[in-house]
Amino acid sequence: MACIRNENKPSAGEGDELEIVEWHTLNEKELASFVRSPINHGLSEAEAEKRLKAIGPNTLKQEKKTSSLSVFTNQFKDFMVIVLLVATIISALLGEFIDAITILIIVLLNGILGFVQERKAEKSLDALKELSAPQMYVKRDGVWKLIPSRLVVPGDIVKLASGDRVGADIRIIEASGLKIEESSLTGESVPVDKKAQLINEQDVEIAEMTNMAFMGTLITQGSAVGVVVATGMKTEMGKIAHLLQSTETLMTPLQLKLEQLGKILIIVALFLTALVVLIGVWQGHEVYTMILSGVSLAVAAIPEGLPAIVTVVLALGVQRMIKQKAIVRKLPAVETLGCASIICSDKTGTLTQNKMTVTDLWSGGNYWNVDGGGYEPKGKFMHEGRIVDVNKEQQLQQLVSYGMLCNNATIMKRERRVGMMRKKVDDYVLNGDPTEGALIVTAQKAGYSHKGLQVPYQRLKEFPFDSTRKMMSVIVKDQNGRRYVITKGAPDVIFEQCTKVIYGSQEEAFTSKRKREAENVIVQMAQKALRTIAIAYRPLGKNEKCDVDQQAECGLTLVGIQGMIDPPRPEVERAIKECHQAGIKTVMITGDHQETAIAIAKKLGIYKGHSRSLIGRELSHLSVSELEANVEDIAVYARVSPEHKLKIVRALQARGHIVAMTGDGVNDAPAIKAANIGISMGITGTDVAKEASSLILSDDNFATIKAAIKEGRNIYENIRKFIRYMLASNVGEILVMLFAMMLGMPLPLVAIQILWINLVTDGLPAMALGMDQAEGDVMKRPPRKPNEGVFARGLTWKILSRGFMIGVVTLAAFWLTLQNDPADLIKAQTVAFVTLVMAQLIHVFDCRSEYSVYHRNPFENKYLLVAVAISVLLMLIVIYYPPLQTIFHTVSLSAREWLLIIGSASIPTVVLGGFRLMKGS
Ligand code: ATP
Repeated sequence: MACIRNENKPSAGEGDELEIVEWHTLNEKELASFVRSPINHGLSEAEAEKRLKAIGPNTLKQEKKTSSLSVFTNQFKDFMVIVLLVATIISALLGEFIDAITILIIVLLNGILGFVQERKAEKSLDALKELSAPQMYVKRDGVWKLIPSRLVVPGDIVKLASGDRVGADIRIIEASGLKIEESSLTGESVPVDKKAQLINEQDVEIAEMTNMAFMGTLITQGSAVGVVVATGMKTEMGKIAHLLQSTETLMTPLQLKLEQLGKILIIVALFLTALVVLIGVWQGHEVYTMILSGVSLAVAAIPEGLPAIVTVVLALGVQRMIKQKAIVRKLPAVETLGCASIICSDKTGTLTQNKMTVTDLWSGGNYWNVDGGGYEPKGKFMHEGRIVDVNKEQQLQQLVSYGMLCNNATIMKRERRVGMMRKKVDDYVLNGDPTEGALIVTAQKAGYSHKGLQVPYQRLKEFPFDSTRKMMSVIVKDQNGRRYVITKGAPDVIFEQCTKVIYGSQEEAFTSKRKREAENVIVQMAQKALRTIAIAYRPLGKNEKCDVDQQAECGLTLVGIQGMIDPPRPEVERAIKECHQAGIKTVMITGDHQETAIAIAKKLGIYKGHSRSLIGRELSHLSVSELEANVEDIAVYARVSPEHKLKIVRALQARGHIVAMTGDGVNDAPAIKAANIGISMGITGTDVAKEASSLILSDDNFATIKAAIKEGRNIYENIRKFIRYMLASNVGEILVMLFAMMLGMPLPLVAIQILWINLVTDGLPAMALGMDQAEGDVMKRPPRKPNEGVFARGLTWKILSRGFMIGVVTLAAFWLTLQNDPADLIKAQTVAFVTLVMAQLIHVFDCRSEYSVYHRNPFENKYLLVAVAISVLLMLIVIYYPPLQTIFHTVSLSAREWLLIIGSASIPTVVLGGFRLMKGS
């Protein structure tokens, strides 16, 4: 870090040049004056906007993008297009101006279409990046707000929590159990302890600045509040940003395969067109005409745009997924989604609503219920059906007030106007963890308020909750100066640390009898699907040291247990059923109690008669191979730590499963990464989990996973559909020319007609197929095998047979028209042109189904109807509008010729499809 203290430069935020200060040496007052920011209140929105304008967004410079011009010119760099352009120039020199200009226009239009497609794909991919862009909590105008990191400015007061990727360079002013992993800056992968204390030494290394958090580093534990001192390229990360720029490949396996396949198809198409040219010349056709037709045919038949269209279809599908609240971070995941055979889902918030309400309470032999719903602090406490006066229930008071003290959530009241009546309703919003929110509401129902408790109990320290420890503690000091540890967490974990219990009005030893009694209460609550939290405490000795969690969380006295409902999300049961029909098993992995987990899993249809459940402790003792032997029957994993998830993924993968795994915490990242589809939570997920994942659920909802899998399957099917359509069309185009030359016939199509078909008939409907709706049974088929090729399930046969039929019927229509009037070659060519176009446009409806054209409603896909209508309309203009007739070598057609055309064009799809349907094949 540069360490020049320059008094002449403007202070932070005023200009482009930020003052370079030894931030770590400043006390809070100096810091506030340097960044000109009131620490208690934060910047005002207006001031933040001014600074953002002056300094620019908080982003690292991106690599330069390919300019629009080069994307456009790239469209014409294809070898065959260059050959065609050369041939066009030759035809212009030979005096064929109309042909030359038309070909040029068509090639230009083709280029524009390619350009638009490529830009669209790029834009949607950029939009995706934007959606998963990092956010930060900042204090503006005295209120904490979550804003995109790029809008953060120097002087902003920010909040950091475990799992966050630090979004700017920050001087820490408050820290609690904070550990930061700074390997991206210092190379040191062991997390460093960070504190708010100032460092008096100057010229210290980055690694020694323990009161600073740097952009790009990772909070592995604890929480902090700090002041932003540098953003964007001015950060330490910005200074080395050029070293880090790497381009991530966005190609999916299918795209890569298609690129290779494209090369083979080019060779085949070139070989066949060369054959057409040679045979044509041998049969006595003019060399120049044959070369122009051959080159046009090659341009039309070579599916050079296939990978680009795949990208567009993937991008469009991904857009649809976003509408359904699934954000794809890594494009290959779209394909893998279609192969998913098992979903391992978290419970809280994903399968359930994460809206907790305490209903049952227990303390030392007494059991209470409390009513009321949501976060409204209204409800009555009851004991054996009778309303009780909380003021007379000392144990109850202690249980609920400790639940409020060992807590970081806040509940705010907001007034909302409803409808025309302008009636005001009270709306309570939770800021923080719903489990803690439920405890706050219960204390409020008993008459406690945060402020009311903060005065007599001053918080000195916090050991934050983490899902491995499964508990959280605070140290508070009462008005008499006595310090207490208050701990809350998973009851089984808390019980392990309890030596005493409050029973009746006194404390007594937590004997095995008392423990069994408490455990029975847990089971009783858990069987009602309640999530349970135990609360315990310990008075601290006068000089007792309590720096780490292990020192605090031991020798505790159990105060009691609170049980809260978290109802299942209503849409999840159906989603699980649909997944089951689609051959996808759902497994619940939760940190919650086994009985609670099973009760919810039963309600949702995850846990059935033969199912088994396993708890984290049992899982720890199993080797991966032992787990592998049992893994198929296990429907619920309870009381697991994030570390266990990796073992589960490995065992499932060893059984050949394609695993989708959800997670939200820092420690979930390895499992998310190891899973075939790593899924993170948009609302509750940490940056680390999001970065490791390939899919983010912006609503944290299980049903969204199902929707994404359905869309993933559909996207893959749509890619197959348009590959099938494009290649069958190309086969038809090549064969009609090849067969005509082999049979010594005149040319059935002229070069311009071939290029026209390539532009209008092949392009538009293919794109519309890419946006097709899923076929009715897409979620009734088993998952796709990961090694299954794109041409599997008879696609090659379908392409060749339908392409062959399209070629044959076009040639037959051409030949019959020629027989009727041998002198009118242009008419026969027009019939061939229209038959080929119509046969393809009818065939496109066949491509929508795995089975036949009769299996789907042809009016479902509006884009396709529009694409087909445009193609037909343009074709009609080309054959009936006299000026275009000259250009496209066409004539007007009679009703008899139309009858022949429609009859022939229907054979490959409608007639033969009907036969196949009758035969049941
Ligand atoms: P899932 O893993 O399905 O999201 P979960 O929320 O139950 O479920 P964890 O967050 O790991 O998983 O919580 C495990 C246990 O820790 C809970 O069952 C609860 O008893 C306890 N717990 C949860 N949140 C807190 C908290 N904020 N403070 C103290 N204890 C908590």
